[in-house]
Amino acid sequence: MKQIRVRYAPSPTGIPHVGNIRTALFNWLFARHTGGTFIVRIEDTDVARTVPEALEAILESLRWLGIDWDEGPEAGGNAGPYFQSQRLELYNRMSAELVAKGDAYYCHCTPERLEEMRKEQTARKAPPGYDRRCRELGLGPAPNAVIRFKIPLSLKTTFRDLIRGEVTFDNAVLDDFVLLKSDGYPTYHLANVIDDNYMKISHVMRGEEWLSSTPRHLMLYRAFGWSPPEFAHLPIILGTDRSKLSKRHGAVALLDYRAQGYLAEAMTNFLALLGWSLDDKTELFSKEELCRHFTIERVSQTAAIFNKEKLDWMNGVYIRALTTDAFAARALPFLEKGLPPEIVRPLDQSYVKKVLALVQERAKTLAEAASPELSWFFFTDRVDYPAELLIDKKLDKTQTANLLATTTARLDVLPAFDATTLEGMLRPLAEEMGLKAGQLFGALRTAVSGLTATPPLFQMMETLGKHRSITRIREAAAKLEALG
Ligand code: GLU
Repeated sequence: MKQIRVRYAPSPTGIPHVGNIRTALFNWLFARHTGGTFIVRIEDTDVARTVPEALEAILESLRWLGIDWDEGPEAGGNAGPYFQSQRLELYNRMSAELVAKGDAYYCHCTPERLEEMRKEQTARKAPPGYDRRCRELGLGPAPNAVIRFKIPLSLKTTFRDLIRGEVTFDNAVLDDFVLLKSDGYPTYHLANVIDDNYMKISHVMRGEEWLSSTPRHLMLYRAFGWSPPEFAHLPIILGTDRSKLSKRHGAVALLDYRAQGYLAEAMTNFLALLGWSLDDKTELFSKEELCRHFTIERVSQTAAIFNKEKLDWMNGVYIRALTTDAFAARALPFLEKGLPPEIVRPLDQSYVKKVLALVQERAKTLAEAASPELSWFFFTDRVDYPAELLIDKKLDKTQTANLLATTTARLDVLPAFDATTLEGMLRPLAEEMGLKAGQLFGALRTAVSGLTATPPLFQMMETLGKHRSITRIREAAAKLEALG
């Protein structure tokens, strides 16, 4: 079997999104599964569309998910990635070679002429495309000339895609596309094919949007006399409403997920399932398991659906799988950043750890470590809520004030303030007062946190401590009084 060599070939023309990094991940998994080689090649030949921050965002996205590449120009520990902008001489030489062989030609048409041609085509409702005026003129290089490919006038191009099966394109729709631009930079098609050949790429795995470029690439392989790699076009990613994926579906730049507190291991698992599956039930895969199981045969042809709720669920699962220490270490920066400024820093670390152990049970993201619902009330004594929230629907104000007062008195004399002791006292107390446990606990929950849904009550009170808990219950009773 041929040595497996795959590549991720991003253009630094934008900040990478889910779909881009899914392509990187699938190539990486395929390389790791087969013991092959994974390279990163930056296709930076479109100077006008280059976005300065894109390169670093691409590399940082890969680093975040641990998608490491195997080689690069200066081989060794710190190798790679490859940059097409460093290989211009090769593209120039190879395109001139195609001209010499009669498979390409210099085109001297000016931008103005091309513009006029386009207008005229639009007016005639004719398909847009170069009219091949220079094709048979045998022109040589000139300052503003480009090199165009002579599309062979055969009728169809057919190839077997490893995911989509046999695909056929009509050559008549293909233009004599540009290979080398007047600035000496190659177009995507030329550089991509030359590099895939010289870098000995065995499998080209890329997004479905590149499928229609493949016939052009195959023609170039033929013109150069090279044998093409295998092609595998990954299914498109859609939102849950089956429309084009966008911010509306909760899809953002990949690094935004890190900023929002998603774990790299959850993100990797989630991305892997955007078009690949092992069977119809397994959802959770460690990276090692993904490497072990990933095959192109199990990549689906049909669109992958990006489901943000599933990502949130998955992230929660990974959060709960962390040790409390690991969670605390990862959540702390989010907590420090997300708590309101009036909360005095530095935070008491042993207290923080206890709070985070409770947050871990419920958080879907690391950022939720600083969510007002999950943790603020542990750090601020200004718990603000309407007094009515304290009153169970089957109780009135006076009954509620009484139960709070009785509870305070009992809590005051408790010898310990751990969750077990609290539960051991509060459950029978509810019964003694002729209340359902939930009625008492609901009032206490609101009194100590200002909220109706919180971490488990007894653990929450233990963490808050005796003094804070009792003070807040007293304040709650006073709030009821004030209702008049
Ligand atoms: N530079 C192209 C991109 O930005 C690469 C497409 C391919 O993999 O051939 O996605």
